Amino acid sequence: MGFNDLNMDSHWLPFTPNRHFRKEPRVFTGADGMFFTTHDGRQVIDGISSLWCVGAGHNRKPINEAIKKQLDTLDYATAFQASNDQAFKAAEMIAAMAPGDLNKVLFCNSGSEAADTSLKVALAYHRARGEGHRNVFIGREKGYHGVGFGGMSVGGIPANRKVYGTALLPRVDHMRFIHDPANAFIHNEEPVSQEDYLLELENRILPLHDPSNVAAIIVEPVAGSAGWYLPPKGYLKRLREICDKHGILLIFDEVITGFGRMGTNFGADFYGVVPDMLNFAKAVTNGVIPMGGVICRDKIYDTMMKTDAPQHVIEFFHGYTYSGHPVACAAAIATLELYRKEALFPRAAEMGKVLGDAFHSAFKGLPNVVGIRSLGLAAAVELAPIAGTPGKRAYDIYLDCFRKGALVRPAGDVVVIAPSYIVEKQHIDQLVNTLADSIRANA
Ligand code: PMP
Repeated sequence: MGFNDLNMDSHWLPFTPNRHFRKEPRVFTGADGMFFTTHDGRQVIDGISSLWCVGAGHNRKPINEAIKKQLDTLDYATAFQASNDQAFKAAEMIAAMAPGDLNKVLFCNSGSEAADTSLKVALAYHRARGEGHRNVFIGREKGYHGVGFGGMSVGGIPANRKVYGTALLPRVDHMRFIHDPANAFIHNEEPVSQEDYLLELENRILPLHDPSNVAAIIVEPVAGSAGWYLPPKGYLKRLREICDKHGILLIFDEVITGFGRMGTNFGADFYGVVPDMLNFAKAVTNGVIPMGGVICRDKIYDTMMKTDAPQHVIEFFHGYTYSGHPVACAAAIATLELYRKEALFPRAAEMGKVLGDAFHSAFKGLPNVVGIRSLGLAAAVELAPIAGTPGKRAYDIYLDCFRKGALVRPAGDVVVIAPSYIVEKQHIDQLVNTLADSIRANA
């Protein structure tokens, strides 16, 4: 099939410049391991695990087989007032992987749904405790929590919000961003900053709203969608302490950092901080079937269950038709087993160092490179924007890389590589060499 055989009249692509796409389509027709096949018959290396999803690489037989078996056994069953065996098994596995007493899993189908679910849990939890006045949410500048109204409201990427005007949650504030320009170059370690990024939370934001009105603070442990910005050493621990001091719930959005990206089960493990809720999606099923969820601490579940309402009364009026879908849960079980069997999280940690080393040796000194950050199995190169057209340089580099056979991820004027955990040194070399060529070509 060539470009001209594609009828592109009906499919409106998400988060895509559609007008330009029609001139230069990028269409996948197959995938195996680290590579895609495109509809014009090329091999393209997947440098971003598709969208931070495909931890174990593409087309993994144990996952595919589990899905097929599940389809033949129980294809679907209602999620309300009943459930299925796979959902219980998947929840048990996920809870066992989560740190501390993060033991109760609410399933949904995406990271956006996880964000909105966690915000609603926070409101309902406080209300159940007789603190219904707690309805302020605090996110962080450049945070990304999906595209639902809740997640968009607490999110802090201006482009994702500005065309929707004021149709957002009413009582939301944002902490300042965590990037210290003195730490433009971070090589496989946590940045150390002289800046105290949480002073503003303590001195301005909390007094402004009165901390007793704040329901939850939501952050990504590492700001992924913004371009792999790392929290300064000690930041998340101190955020945890501030939340504890004021009875505020702490939500980690681990849609990207969860399930191995940091070389640990979760970013919470990497940073040694247990949130009150942990949102996940993406890599939980290797990206093969949509799934998301929120893992809640025991105290949240126990509070919600402590009610004298009659037995037939639902404790939490929330859920999705496809919450805990048996096929998605079977995919999750097989994926998590595969991660464990092949020790892919330690491998992600190991290959992350190789990726970080390659970034720093290949890109330092190239034209327009103003920052390089690596930690976990992800690395970012930040480029000086073209005056007047922010985002264009990274997007042009992304296009050029694709023409040269590599899928990378543009984020503003940052380009990110975050491959599957099965990545080999030769793949890293291919990705980094391609990206270096493209950076030079777009100087
Ligand atoms: N939260 C984070 C941290 C994410 O990175 C993403 C997706 N990139 C989401 C939420 C939204 O997930 P989804 O696209 O599955 O709704």
